Parts: sequence; C-alpha cells; structure tokens
Amino acid sequence: MENFLEPLNRILVAVRDIGAHGGLMFQAHPSAETRQAGRELSEAADRFFNEFRVNEAIYRAVQSIDLVGADRETIVGVEKLLRDMRRAGVELVPVRRKQVVELANQIDRDSNEFAANIASSNRAVAAESSDALRGLPPDFLSSHSPGADGRIRISTKYPDLFPVMSYAADPELRRRLLHEFLNVAFPENLPVLDQLLGDRREFVRLLGYADYAQYAVEDKMTGRPQVVAEFLDRIAQLLDAPAKVDLARLLARKRKDLPGADELEDWDGRLWPGGYYATKIREEEYGVDMRRVREYLPYPAVRDGLFDLCRELFGLTFRPHTETPLWHPSVEAYDVERNGVPIGRCYFDFVPRPGKFNHAAQFDVRTGVIGSGLPQGALLCNFLSEQAPREHVRMEYRDVVTFFHEFGHLLHHLLSGDGRWLYTTMGFAEWDFIEAPSQLFEEWARDPATLARFARNPDTGETMPADLVARLKKSEAVGRAYGVLRQVFLATLSLEIYLRDPKGLDTSRLFREVYEKRLGVPYNPEYHWITSFGHLTGYSAIYYTYLWSAVIARDLLTPFEAKGSLTDRATAERYVTEVLAPGGSRPAAELVRRFLGRDYTFDAYERWVLAGTTSS
Ligand SMILES: [Zn+2]
Repeated sequence: MENFLEPLNRILVAVRDIGAHGGLMFQAHPSAETRQAGRELSEAADRFFNEFRVNEAIYRAVQSIDLVGADRETIVGVEKLLRDMRRAGVELVPVRRKQVVELANQIDRDSNEFAANIASSNRAVAAESSDALRGLPPDFLSSHSPGADGRIRISTKYPDLFPVMSYAADPELRRRLLHEFLNVAFPENLPVLDQLLGDRREFVRLLGYADYAQYAVEDKMTGRPQVVAEFLDRIAQLLDAPAKVDLARLLARKRKDLPGADELEDWDGRLWPGGYYATKIREEEYGVDMRRVREYLPYPAVRDGLFDLCRELFGLTFRPHTETPLWHPSVEAYDVERNGVPIGRCYFDFVPRPGKFNHAAQFDVRTGVIGSGLPQGALLCNFLSEQAPREHVRMEYRDVVTFFHEFGHLLHHLLSGDGRWLYTTMGFAEWDFIEAPSQLFEEWARDPATLARFARNPDTGETMPADLVARLKKSEAVGRAYGVLRQVFLATLSLEIYLRDPKGLDTSRLFREVYEKRLGVPYNPEYHWITSFGHLTGYSAIYYTYLWSAVIARDLLTPFEAKGSLTDRATAERYVTEVLAPGGSRPAAELVRRFLGRDYTFDAYERWVLAGTTSS
C-alpha cells in the first residue's frame, strides 16, 4: 500500500489540483489569454484522468491490493476508485476504451465551451433617464450615472439584475432586462448543448447504459432516475395548490396599481420569484422594505460578521493572506485556522468582470489530503457593484443568503481537508448530498441573533431593529411555494433532457414543454433561458440535488432548533465531527443518521415549504 496506493494518490491529487487551478483561472482571470491558458490546463488534467481511469494495469494492481486489516477510510477509498474506473470504461475491450476516452475529452471541451459562452456574454439595456430607475435604492442610483450619451447602462450581471427585478417601478425596464438575461449565450450555446448531449449519450451507450440520466444518478443517493422522477412529482403535487395561491396573491397586488390587469407578466414575478410584486407585498403586508434592509448590509460588515460567527461556532479564525499575488485587485485571500491550527485558505472574488463566471459557486483550488497540502477554496460570486466604493457597497439580502450558502460549501471543503485519499474527500461525496451543508448554512443568514452581529447601517450606526429582522424572516415565505416549484421545473428539465434521445431533439421545445407542464403558465418563445442554464454541464441530470439536499438540510437544522439556538457550540461541534469532517469517506445517509440519531425524514421540509400558505 505504501509502495503503490500512496504514491498513486499523491499523483492524482497533484494533477487534480493543477486542473483545479487552471479551472479557476479559466473562470476568473481578467485576461482572455490567461483564461484560455487556464482552460487548456484544466482540459489537460481532465485528459490525464480520462486516460488514467481506463488504465487496465493500474486497475488490476489496485484490485489485487490486500485490504485485510485496512481501516475503513482506505477500504472506501479503494472501492470508490475502482468504481470510478469501471464507470469510465476500464473493463471494456481496448478499442472501445479508446472511443470512450475520446468522447470523455470531447465532453469536457463541450462543457467548457458552454461555460465560456455564458461568461463572455455582455448583454445590457440602456435606461433613457434616471426616471426609468424609479424605485431603485439610493446606493444603486449613486453608482449608476449616465454615460456620455446621457443614458444609463444596466447590465444582466447580478448586481444590476437583482435590484432592477425587485425594485424598478418601470415595468418596461424590467421587461427589457429580463429579456436580455434570458437570452444570455443565445444562439451560440444551442449547438454546443446539442453536441454535449449527443456526446454524453454516445459515451454511456458504449458503457452499456440506456441514457445519460441513468449513468449520472447511479452513484448518487437516489440511484435510479425513477426515484428522482417520483421525488420531483411528490414535491410538485405538494405545491400545486400553494403555488397557484402565490401567483394569485401577486396578481391581486398588481391590480392595486393597474386595476384592469388580467394577468401577471414574467417580469412581475411570474418567472422571477422574489420579483417586483413579491417585494411590494413584503413591504406592505410585512413592513419589510428590502431597500431599507439593504442599507444595513455593507459588504465588509457582512463578511466580518460571518468570520465572527465561524469563530464562535467552529473555532475558526481568518487572517488576511497577502504573500501570494492574486488575479485581480478586488480579490481577497484569507488563511484559516481552527483552534490555532492552520487548516487551509480561501479566496473571495465578488466583483463582476467581462469574461468572469456569472453565477455564484465555490471552486476547489486545492484538494486537501494529508501529506499533499491543506485545502483551498475560492468563492466566485457577483455580489458587489464594480462602480460602488468598496467600504460602502451594500449587498442585496438575497446575496447575503447566497454568500452564506457558498460559504457552507467552503466550510465543508476546509473542515474535511485532512483525509487520507483523494477518493474519500468531499469532492467524492454523493452529489445529491453536497447541497445540504450549503443550504443548511443559509439558515444562519436568516437567524436574528446572527444578523444582529453585523447588520448595521454605517451611515447612522444603527443596528437592524430586531422587529425588522423578525418580520424579514417571516416575509421570506412570500412566494416560496412558487419559487420551489420553479426549482422542480429546472430539476425536471435537467433529468428529462438527459433521458431523451438527443438525435433530432429540439431542446428549446422540450424546455418550453416542461416549463408549462410544471409551472402551469406559458413560456415566452422569445426567451432562450436554456442557453445560460450552466448546471446542464457539471450537474447534468442531477439539478434535483438542490431539492433532495434541501430535504436533508431542513432535518439537519432540527438539532439546533431543539437547543433553541443556532449558535449552540456543542451541536455545531457535533455537526462538524459527524457530517462535515468525514467528507466522502462514508455514505451521506450514514453521516446524517449519526448526527440526528435516526434516519432523516421529509417532515421538516414539508412544514417549511408550506409555511407561506399557512400564515401571513
Ligand atoms: Zn451550492
């Protein structure tokens, strides 16, 4: 084992980290040449793994290792490695192996092409005058001055998009911006998607699977597409009536402005949960003006409050790291210690730039395996307007929740970084569990005691009033059922598109059919949302992971709720030990069972998802 498995493990970790570094530069670097170089590096590492996985000599050698008396982590690591190699085609005849490697390389290129087209999109609308920006918060207005032509540029990047969709009183501005946003990477990504679907179908056909969905879920908690489909139907059925109530409530509010209105438009909140009329209802019925909430959320205070929380919960400290040159002046780096012991490093890249990843995600930078260095992770998000001065830039509350979500992934990565084998790290945990720690950590951004730590208006020194925090939390249920149903739609689409035969498949038409079936409202054929649905590459058929993991996350919350505090240190410590630290070294269901003392159930999730329809 020392002579074979350990050196092999070190090589695999090293190549994975090189690929991860390339991947990060591909998604984040300001220079187009460096992005291209990063992409090539990432694809070279992918090619190495694609070749490695079908190496029969290594496969046989790993199979022959005597595991008698080995520890459980090693046994699991070896089992997962062998399964990964089998799933890559190592047991095929040599000529077939060559074909699957070529297809796997092509799939990686297709996926990167799809991502690059989304990132390089530079769509925007022009507002003729500041009158068109009526309703937007003061800090947004002061960071959006008219250009030389007197017009104000509003881009489809999130720091512009989210406030406009929530606050802009001018429906025409919302309509135009949503139209641009839902045409990001159109038309260039349609043929890329066709290519990707075709290559994946061919890849799994050679491996003996009927479709890519079957392949994608085989090693997940669900195991079979049928289980996923039934799970999605279950939630859809649960939300059928409540989602209609949500839409009726938005339409009723719209009629106060426009008495004759006979329908809700997509840009009123029908396609966009948390949109304009939901924001109005939160303001008028719950007394929560989201623009006022924003005033209490300057970015530096949110970040420091989060660090403070992590010190109390998990014994973590974050020290600015200044030794390494970073890829952009706005990027921050922190060395992380736990109870005084270094455990890794993290990077925050929060300002949008041309060519940068346009969504929000945690990217592994270094894996974190004993003997191969500490883990490092980067959060690539788009929270902060590039025009606003850093110390005063405000965050949308939904972005604070997203920050906590991505930070939940980062915690999982950093706190599981002392395992022995690549194949037992967090990156090899079941992917339909991976969104549970992140969605659980969102709850701290909704916790009054946590918000009280950092939500303070720097202009007045005033802390966010406790009653506002309480109303904010309650008002979050507005539109929840419809918002979750929209997730069910995206999950169904992701499954369906990988169940179908791609030959002759009209993906735009499928998108529209599934949308209308799940949401019960028409889909505007001028939109091409599918071309910027970035999860169709990496997550492929398993977008359902958000919903599946949310069910687990709601139950993981119950031990904290039973203590009456989200900052109960003993529960937090147990959560780290039982759930986060083991990474991918045990089945997720077992980790959850050890933490809860029982199997998880659907109950806590059902209560949460229906909360908006049972109270107001
Ligand atoms: Zn996530």
